[in-house]
Amino acid sequence: MAKKDYYDILGVDKDASQKEIKRAYRKLSKKYHPDISDEENAEEKFKEVTEAYEILSDEETRAKYDQYGHAGVNQDAGGGARQGGFGNFGGGAGGFEDIFDIFFGDRRRGGGRDRRSRARKGSDLRYTMTIDFEEAAFGTEKEITVPRTEECSECNGTGAKSDSDVETCAKCDGTGEIKFKQNTPFGQMVQTQTCDRCNGTGKFVKEPCPNCNGQGKVKKRRKVTVNIPAGVNDGHKLRMRGEGQAGENGGPSGDLYIIIKVKEHDLFKREGNNVICEVPISFIQAILGDEIKVPTLDGKVKFNIPEGTQPGASFRLKDKGIPYLNRRDTRGDQIIKVKVIIPENLDEDQKELLEEFADISGEEINPEQKNFWSKIKSFFE
Ligand SMILES: [Zn+2]
Ligand SMILES: [Zn+2]
Repeated sequence: MAKKDYYDILGVDKDASQKEIKRAYRKLSKKYHPDISDEENAEEKFKEVTEAYEILSDEETRAKYDQYGHAGVNQDAGGGARQGGFGNFGGGAGGFEDIFDIFFGDRRRGGGRDRRSRARKGSDLRYTMTIDFEEAAFGTEKEITVPRTEECSECNGTGAKSDSDVETCAKCDGTGEIKFKQNTPFGQMVQTQTCDRCNGTGKFVKEPCPNCNGQGKVKKRRKVTVNIPAGVNDGHKLRMRGEGQAGENGGPSGDLYIIIKVKEHDLFKREGNNVICEVPISFIQAILGDEIKVPTLDGKVKFNIPEGTQPGASFRLKDKGIPYLNRRDTRGDQIIKVKVIIPENLDEDQKELLEEFADISGEEINPEQKNFWSKIKSFFE
């Protein structure tokens, strides 16, 4: 069955604000909460609503969903956790499979045991990658070496020296299971257990493959090229499907997660998709204005400090910030924060000139000062 659209599930528009999404989720999760709801399929609907909310409430995953649909945000069934769940590597399906083996083993074996039913997805791997500020902004390609287990190429994962060395397991007749009867308070039950001779594969290897010592897997250091998209931020996770550990008994390989760490920059700080740059100027430049050069991610640009610039003033350079993830042509801005440097240790000539300046200016004070002193006056009255 095709998966329903997350926006439809929550009943919100594609351009709904986070507030609207949250409101819709609150309403629906109350309606379908399995503990309190009388609705039909409440639990299923509750899960659906929660999943939709998890994706859409995070701008990063929402952007991916908007661009790639379900394929952009969903991991395999059985992978367990959606994000950050590195604790249960590949274990998601395992538990269930065991239960099904015990209770439905007989029914499932109608047409002979499915040799692949013991297949397990390989473990996920994680790799922390440190990249430069600029690389995070504009994206980059990196090659890394990942130590991992892979299917043995000599025996194609069978663990046998040659195909003729693989024979049907005699203990379980190739079913991979041992069946036994057990008396329980509910009557006699037929239970099945994984065959201990062949570990449930139904095959027995006479002569093991010398390349992998019969393991069917070998340790390898594999070169993987990672494409880092423009706009990634510190802590971002990239998933590379199938680049993790080899699976068990023909199961798919696990995934490789790249965790991005972004180095600090000497000149720039990131705030959302804006780049903050503090620029020191002299008090003369602040007073008289000046044309200066400021660094941006795209190189130096000319910038006019206006006459009468106040300390701490900030200016915006449009579209000089960091591209939005998966929307390369949309960028944040650069914010220039002016830091006015007041000179210290002036010599006599300099002091004289400033005193002269003070004389010319007279006792006149500016409106802001006037306002401040009148506030002080009323405060003490
Ligand atoms: Zn081998
Ligand atoms: Zn067996």
